[in-house]
Parts: sequence; C-alpha cells; structure tokens
Amino acid sequence: MNRKKIGVIGSGFSGLAAASVLAKENHEVHIFEKNEQIGGRARKFSANGFTFDMGPSWYWMPDVMEKFFNKFNHTTSDFYELIKLDPGFKVIFKDDAVSIPANWDELCALFEDIEVGGADQLRKFMAGAEYKYNIGVNDLVYQPGLSILEVMRMDLVKGVFKLDVFSSFRTHVRKYFKDPRLVAIMEFPVLFLGAMPKDTPALYSLMNYAGMKQGTFYPMGGFSMIPEAMQKIAMEQGVEFHLNHNVNQIGLENNKATHLQFDDKKVDVDALVASADYHHVEQVLLPEAFRNYKENYWEKRVFAPSSLLFYLGVDKKVPNLDHHNLFFDEDLDQHAEELYVNKSWPSKPLFYVCCPSLTDPSVAPEGKENVFLLMPLAPGLEDGEALREKYFTIMMDRLEAYTKCEIRSAISYKRSYCISDFVSDYNAYKGNAYGLANTLLQTANLKPKIKNNKIDNLYYTGQLTVPGPGVPPSIISGQVAADQLLKSFKKSK
Ligand SMILES: Cc1cc2nc3c(=O)[nH]c(=O)nc-3n(C[C@H](O)[C@H](O)[C@H](O)COP(=O)(O)OP(=O)(O)OC[C@H]3O[C@@H](n4cnc5c(N)ncnc54)[C@H](O)[C@@H]3O)c2cc1C
Repeated sequence: MNRKKIGVIGSGFSGLAAASVLAKENHEVHIFEKNEQIGGRARKFSANGFTFDMGPSWYWMPDVMEKFFNKFNHTTSDFYELIKLDPGFKVIFKDDAVSIPANWDELCALFEDIEVGGADQLRKFMAGAEYKYNIGVNDLVYQPGLSILEVMRMDLVKGVFKLDVFSSFRTHVRKYFKDPRLVAIMEFPVLFLGAMPKDTPALYSLMNYAGMKQGTFYPMGGFSMIPEAMQKIAMEQGVEFHLNHNVNQIGLENNKATHLQFDDKKVDVDALVASADYHHVEQVLLPEAFRNYKENYWEKRVFAPSSLLFYLGVDKKVPNLDHHNLFFDEDLDQHAEELYVNKSWPSKPLFYVCCPSLTDPSVAPEGKENVFLLMPLAPGLEDGEALREKYFTIMMDRLEAYTKCEIRSAISYKRSYCISDFVSDYNAYKGNAYGLANTLLQTANLKPKIKNNKIDNLYYTGQLTVPGPGVPPSIISGQVAADQLLKSFKKSK
C-alpha cells in the first residue's frame, strides 16, 4: 500500500487510538491538537502540590485497554500499575450508605442483606449482563455502524431477546429488585451513558457487568496515565505530535480533503481522521455543502449531560469517604427530569465526589486530600461564577454533613470547570462533557456516521460517533475509524 500522509485532528483517546493504528500500517501520521497538552477531556493539571485529573475517573472495562495495548505488543503494566478498588464505590442515600465490595460473593451477600432473595436475583441479572457484555463489547462495538446488516446477522437476530435491545433499562432493573437502594445501585451505571434509565435500552446492563462484576479500577499516577501510555505507543509507531495547533479549516478539492488550515500555515494531507467534536468539525471546519448533518439535526439529538466540576486541594484528611462516592441522597428522577426534560439548573442535585488521594499518594501532598466534585448538568446552560458558587455551597453542605468534617476552611486550592470551559477548551457542542446519550434511537447505526458521505478521505471518530461516550468506547472508536480508512485505501488501489 502507498504510504499516505494522514492528519488526525485532536489528541483525545479516539485520536490517539486512530493515529497508532494508522501509523502501524506504515503511514505518516500527524496529530494536530489545539491545546498544549494531549489527552483531550482526560487532561491533568498540577497546582500547590496536587495533581488533578480533569475528566474521567472511573476505569471500567480494563479488557478494552488491554486489548488495545496488546495490538502494539504491550500490556497495561508496561505503563502503569492498575489497582482494583475495594470497595469499588459507595452510594450515599438519605439515611445510610452502601459500599460496593470488589469481591463477587461479598456483593451477593450484601444484596441478600438488603433484600431477601437479592443474591439470587443479582446472579440472574449478571448472567444476562455478562452475555450482553460479551456480544456488545467484544463484537458489536467494533462495528462501524455503516450498514444495518452489521446488526442483522443471524446469530444476533436469534439472540435479540437476550440482548434486551427493545426494553427499557428501568423496567429491566425493576424485574429483579424492589428495594429502592438496590434499584438506584443498579441504575447508576447507565447514567454514564447520558440518559434516563427509562430511555436507555436494557442492553446496557452490560455496564453493570463492567462496573460491578469485572470491577472498578484505578491506574496509579492518575487517569492521565492512559493517554500518556497511548502517546508513547503512538510515538513508537512514528506518529508526530503538533500541540497548540488549532485547525481552522479543512481544505477540499474534488471531494477530497487536501489540507488543514491553521492561523499561520497550511499542511497538506492525503487523508483525515477528525476526532474533535463531530459538530465542531462539520459546522466550523467544513463548508455547508460537505456536511453530513445540518444544524437542526444536532438540535434534535439527545445529549449526555455536561458537568459542573470543582478540583479541590484540602489541607487535611477527610474521613468517611471512599475513592468514588455517589451522593444519591436526593431524588434521582427529579434531577434527571431537570437534566433531560426541563434542561435547567437542578433544584436538588445528585453529585459525585472522587477522592483519589485515598488510593494514590502521588496526587496530593502527605496529610492532604485531593477532592473532585462533579454535578451533572444540562448542556447549553449559562454558567457564571455566582451559579457555580451557589452549587458549590449546596454540594459542600451535604459533603460536610455526611463526612462530619469541616472541609471548607481547609481548602488551599480550588478551581471550577463548567459548560463554557468545555466549549472554549474542546470546541464542545453546547459544552457537552460526554457526547451523545445512548438512547435506542442513538445507538449503533443510528449514531452520527463515522464516514463523511461527500468527502472520500474523511472519517470521524470519538464520543459523538460509534460506539459512544466513555473512555473504552472512544478508544474503540479510534480503531474502528482507522480500520475503515485503511480499508478505503485498499479499495481505491
Ligand atoms: C468530567 C468528565 C468525566 C468523565 N468521566 C468518565 C469516566 O469516569 N469514565 C469514562 O470511561 N469516561 C468518562 N468521561 C468520558 C470520556 O472522558 C470521553 O468520552 C472521552 O475522553 C472522549 O474522548 P474523545 O477522543 O472522543 O474526545 P476528546 O477527549 O474531547 O478529544 C478531542 C480533542 O480534539 C481537540 N480539538 C477540538 N477542536 C480542535 C481543533 N479545531 N483543532 C485541533 N484540535 C481540536 C480537543 O482539544 C481534544 O483534545 C468523562 C468525561 C468528562 C468530561
């Protein structure tokens, strides 16, 4: 195959994965990243001796990362030590809290304690979830979503009822569990997929298998160890990195992408993989006639939430927290309604507190705590300083009440991050944090297409196309887009 010069826009998980796959086939690959650091939404920053992961913190589906590293004759431990968290996470309710043990038998016993018969029900639920995980994550998610035939295969059609594509996650969970705490514990993983359980196909109970049976992991050194490992792999394959390179325009000739335009220069390319937010690439970098979708298409999509985040350096240890803590001490349905239906700032938000310094001494000075608060928020809202502070107070009041610890006076570092930061840092449509929600109408073939229909040599990748939001799906997305581009080279030979 002729050696091509391929441009990759963006250095998030999907761009890094695509670049390595393409360079492994001996192509000349260049990543152009607008920010001064690689990693996209998984960047990190350091201040006052603390190191904060800016985005993802839940390491699920370690097999996906391992499979990616193996492709390049590496294994996870070549780059970082992966710890299985025990407990995996804690869910805090109004009157009590439940920590999810890493050990499966202990988890079954916990479910039995909360609800008679809960252990058996959990085993049955997980058997179905494991089946879906095996088909979903080992097979379906690697499909490019270009033809309906990908999901109409005989083996899948025969198993369609076991895959629960057409029933809702909410109904599915309630078939097994009645206790509201178990229902909340089982429903929480799909919130990662960005939609209400009633709008999410029960297929996604595969997420319960990932988070509760496989377990919740942590890469020592922080989440940014993953993009850093992927950058090392990319460099081994010969990928060249160009940071502080904001692409302004994709240049076209005869239905082909021919160059990338920057403020001060133009770089020629033979082909392109765009891993920046799909909406930005189409609406800003391409002329109207060459877009797959019009603006009103995006208006009609269901977006996963954005977030209000606080990165806190606390000059003392905070008791009563696990590494991952979900504050489900208010009504989930009400917050979900405000998030997805009213699209307003929530009245009684649920939120998440991450305390990685409990596991990893490298992210905070000795005797101090690294605390990260995340509150899901509808994309597109105004997010001025006063609003951020109002919700900081709401979250801190509840965090201090639960931990029985005065934290605010010990905060020596504080930074907020919200919708407008996602827009300015990542060109994120409406400041979305995790892309499109995985509703039935936005799954597989119904996602924005991985290939530009009008430009032969332009492929999209990342959390806005197949297979969807999250770190493992983005890594898969990069591989799928790269494979499609490689196939197109073979066809055009
Ligand atoms: C707060 C938060 C928490 C999360 N938590 C989790 C979690 O716990 N577990 C999990 O699995 N997932 C989580 N996610 C989701 C996960 O981080 C994302 O799905 C994933 O990182 C997306 O990767 P990507 O490659 O699609 O996009 P991105 O990471 O956004 O990469 C796109 C890159 O393109 C660059 N770019 C944009 N425009 C241009 C341009 N014009 N020129 C050049 N470069 C450009 C951007 O700067 C960016 O670096 C979280 C996300 C957020 C924001």
